[in-house]
Amino acid sequence: MAIGQKIKQAATVRTTRALRERLESLIFSRYPDKEWATYFLFVTHRQPEGKVITVVDLIEPQRDDLDSTTAIVRFTEPYSLRAALEKQKRGLCVGVIHSHPQDYGVHPSPLDDNMDSYYRDYFPAFGKEVAYFSLIFSRTEKGDIRFSGRGWGDNKEFQLTEIVTVSDNEIRRATAGCQPSAAAGFRNQYHERFEQIYGADAAARLRNARVTIIGASGTGSPAAHVLARAGVESFVLIDPQRLAKSNLERLH
Ligand SMILES: [Zn+2]
Repeated sequence: MAIGQKIKQAATVRTTRALRERLESLIFSRYPDKEWATYFLFVTHRQPEGKVITVVDLIEPQRDDLDSTTAIVRFTEPYSLRAALEKQKRGLCVGVIHSHPQDYGVHPSPLDDNMDSYYRDYFPAFGKEVAYFSLIFSRTEKGDIRFSGRGWGDNKEFQLTEIVTVSDNEIRRATAGCQPSAAAGFRNQYHERFEQIYGADAAARLRNARVTIIGASGTGSPAAHVLARAGVESFVLIDPQRLAKSNLERLH
């Protein structure tokens, strides 16, 4: 696999005000703490300024389509299949829109990376439309909306730059709020170094791994330290003891 980042092309999402209102009332319905999601159908076309994704319809979750026992989004297999068959029947593309909790950022999490890498292969297998898009929304306590989005198709990767919402008497444009923070920029450089050292697959495996360490003192805590420096971002550390002055000398 080639080293370095693929250049992403700009994409704009177009939607109607009616669809946008339906979408927001759905994905923020478990706010402020819990996420929610929907599949959506879209068509794409090319414009001089980049790819345009037009939202045609939402495939809203029915009862038990999403796991309601968890705060994050978990799609069930019957729901994914229903969306895939709908895509095939109507000759459209399928994408995912999910919310992050109130006041959260809209940068994709490692779980979102897993989800997108799965669905960008899954949905194109149904029918001939091969594009897949994934959007993330969040709302602040004040009511401001943030969003980010990315997509894949024709061997290209797309980054959402703008959402255009059209109603009878106006057109509203909003810019994606996913400008990577300084910390994210640093993280990307860090990941690039790992990809150079280990290869992209191994680096991605480390980044998406969750490591449980049982015993977090003389052996466990330096192990966590080394794994964190090797790119692992998610840990479960288990130790029955409390941190005390007397054991500080062997803790990392
Ligand atoms: Zn997410």
